[in-house]
Amino acid sequence: MRDRTDRPGAPPPAAPPPDDGTAERPGHQAVGETAWTRVLTLIEQADEVALACHVSPDGDALGSMLAVGAVLRSLGKKVVASFGDRRFSVPRLLRFLPGQDLLVPPAAFPAEPELMITFDSSTLDRLGLLSVNAGKAREVVVIDHHPSNTGFGTVSLIDPDVAATAVLAEQLIYRLGGTLDRDVATCLYAGLVTDTGSFRHSSTTPAAHEMAARLVATGLRTDEIARELWDRSPFGYLKVLAAALDRVTLEDGLVWTSVTHLDRASYGLPYEEVEAIIDVIRRTDEAEVAVVLKEDDLGAWQVSTRSKGAVDVAAICTALGGGGHRSAAGFTSHDSVETTMNRIRALLPRKV
Ligand code: AMP
Ligand code: MN
Ligand code: MN
Repeated sequence: MRDRTDRPGAPPPAAPPPDDGTAERPGHQAVGETAWTRVLTLIEQADEVALACHVSPDGDALGSMLAVGAVLRSLGKKVVASFGDRRFSVPRLLRFLPGQDLLVPPAAFPAEPELMITFDSSTLDRLGLLSVNAGKAREVVVIDHHPSNTGFGTVSLIDPDVAATAVLAEQLIYRLGGTLDRDVATCLYAGLVTDTGSFRHSSTTPAAHEMAARLVATGLRTDEIARELWDRSPFGYLKVLAAALDRVTLEDGLVWTSVTHLDRASYGLPYEEVEAIIDVIRRTDEAEVAVVLKEDDLGAWQVSTRSKGAVDVAAICTALGGGGHRSAAGFTSHDSVETTMNRIRALLPRKV
C-alpha cells in the first residue's frame, strides 16, 4: 500500500458520509478504512484473484473489472475475470476495452476461489452462473454503488453516493499502488461515462469530473470511446427501433414499449443492441416514467425502467425481483408483456 500523499493528482480518500441524515439511510454504508485495509490484505495474501461482474455487463461492470484486473496482473498477481452469462460473449460495444485477454468463460472460472471480487453487482443473483462460485469462495469482496446492494460478500466496498463502480475501482487501484496507464484509464472512463450518462445524470458530481480529468490526462481518446459506446450500430438497429417506436404507448405519465425476439430475429440483431432503446423512449416530455421490455434470446423479458426523479423506480423493480438506482432500474420477467406491465402499473404512484 502506498502513502496517499506521494502522487499528485491522486484520487482523494473516500469522503466521509455527509452529516445530513443520509448516513442513516437504509443500505447506506460509505466505505471505511477498515474495509479498504482488509481488502488490501486479502489481495496481498491471495495466490490468485478471481474477478466477476454482473451478467450482460455494461461499461461500468466490465470496465471496472478489467481495470482492476490489469493492475493486479501488473503487480504480479494471477488473475482471471469473467461474468456469468449462459452465452458468454462480450457485448459488441465494449469490445474496444483493453485487457480482455484476462477474460475466461464461466466454466473456466475457479469453482471455489480463494478470493473473489465482484464489480457493479447489487445481488448474488446478478452474478448469474458465477453466483455458485461466489457461494463457494473463501472470501468475496463486493465493490459496488447500488443503494439496493444486499451486502452478499464477506467484505463490502459499497458506496451508493459515488457515480459509478469505476470510482471505487480507481480508489482500489490507487491504494494498491497500481499505475493508471492509458489502457486502465480507458476502462475506468468507460465506466464513468456509462453510469453518468456522459456527465448528464444527477450523479455527475465535481468528484466525477475530477476523476475524468485524471483519466483523460493519460492520453485516452474520448472521441473514440464515445463513438464506440454510443454512436454506432448495425443497420438492423434502425429497423428494430422503428418497430419499437411504432408501438410505443403513452398513458398517464408512463411511456412504454417492447422489443420482441422476433423484431430482432428479422434483422439478425443481438439482444445487446437494443439495450439503449430506453434512452430514446425516456425523452418523452409527457412522461415521468419510461419502460422498455426487451425479450432476450431465452424468451424472458428484461425490463428497463427510468424516471425523471419524482418516482423511485428502484423500489418498483426491487419489489418485482430486480434492483437498480432511484431513476434507472430493471428486473427480469417471465410473464407476458401485459401481466408485466400490470405489475408495474400497480406499483406506480396513482398520478405520475
Ligand atoms: P438497465 O435498464 O439494464 O440499463 O439497468 C438499469 C439499472 O437497473 C442498472 O443499475 C442495473 O444494475 C439495474 N438492473 C437492471 N436489470 C436488473 C435485474 N434484472 N436485477 C437487478 N438489477 C437490475
Ligand atoms: Mn451496471
Ligand atoms: Mn454501475
